[in-house]
Amino acid sequence: MRVWVLGRCGGYPRPGEACSGYLVEAAGRRVLLDLGHGALSRLLLRVSPYDLDAVVVSHLHPDHVADLPALRVALRWGRRPASWAGRLAVLGPAQAAEYLAHVVGEPVLEEFDFYAIAEAEPVELDGLRVRFRRTRHPVETYAVRLESQGAVLVYTADTAPSDAVRELSRGADVLLAEATLSEAYRDRADAAGHLTGSLAGALAQEAGVRRLLLTHFFPTTDPQESVAAAQKAFGGPVGAVEEGGAYEV
Ligand SMILES: [Zn+2]
Ligand SMILES: [Zn+2]
Repeated sequence: MRVWVLGRCGGYPRPGEACSGYLVEAAGRRVLLDLGHGALSRLLLRVSPYDLDAVVVSHLHPDHVADLPALRVALRWGRRPASWAGRLAVLGPAQAAEYLAHVVGEPVLEEFDFYAIAEAEPVELDGLRVRFRRTRHPVETYAVRLESQGAVLVYTADTAPSDAVRELSRGADVLLAEATLSEAYRDRADAAGHLTGSLAGALAQEAGVRRLLLTHFFPTTDPQESVAAAQKAFGGPVGAVEEGGAYEV
């Protein structure tokens, strides 16, 4: 399994960068996790929109979904290969279909097939198993666990420290964890619904993961300070993802 980072900014993009978006390739499948501001342009550097097998939307904050209407336009008016099924599966919170239709201003988005995420229902995508748990965030948000051929990737999405996310992360090969806030805001992480580097490190340590990758940095957060704080709490290998970077799981 491999994950390509399309964007690593949380909240709003840093100059010249993009917000949340991750392309996961495993067992011949391509699954997109989130598509925030600017992430579509990075996605199109790598693949055609018709190459995607599914999109997982962790939640409906714009820094995770802002480019989905643009993806829909690309699917609708692009050069469709004859092999394309005509619709792209979108897994997300139950309100995702209504929300995106409202944003686009049309009653139905025919290029997307929406499926409501349920915590108790893993999704099978031909060799790729996907599980979900609700996180602690101001809106309905799901952390995602992807398993394929013995490799396990967990994406925390946006969350404050959470028992459910810790359970979902148990034993992961790679934990792709949000580290939105600088350590100066650690006391306010619960209220904000986010993590700092040290809180992400504690999550990785408690869940017994092999490697921690930090992402979703608020533009004023210094990723290297977050990595240093996470290393103290975790003890295992820690890195900050780079936009355009590819990481083996
Ligand atoms: Zn976010
Ligand atoms: Zn959010």
